[in-house]
Amino acid sequence: MRCPVCKADNLQGPQCRRCKADLTLLFALEEQRQRTLAEARRCLRRGEWQAAVKHAETANWLRSDEDAQQLAAVAHLVGRDFAGAWRCYQNWRLLRQGDTGRVRSFFSA
Ligand SMILES: [Zn+2]
Repeated sequence: MRCPVCKADNLQGPQCRRCKADLTLLFALEEQRQRTLAEARRCLRRGEWQAAVKHAETANWLRSDEDAQQLAAVAHLVGRDFAGAWRCYQNWRLLRQGDTGRVRSFFSA
């Protein structure tokens, strides 16, 4: 977890190891994001690919990162939605390049 105050990386909360800023809410959000991704994986194992995409999108809304894009791409492939998988792949590439401004919704065409 990167501290928004001093930019120090923190593996544990609730306080920043350097500036002692309270990171409780950020850690809670990250925990919610991890639970959402876990639920997306559970849906995927059950073959419920559309629900998996929805959970991945929620995780991406909480914090945009490559893991949610990859999971959504796999879910789209399971559902044989190749256009959706392609969008996720493009988003994944943008995120790898650090270009978060052009990342689009999993559902938009
Ligand atoms: Zn800090």
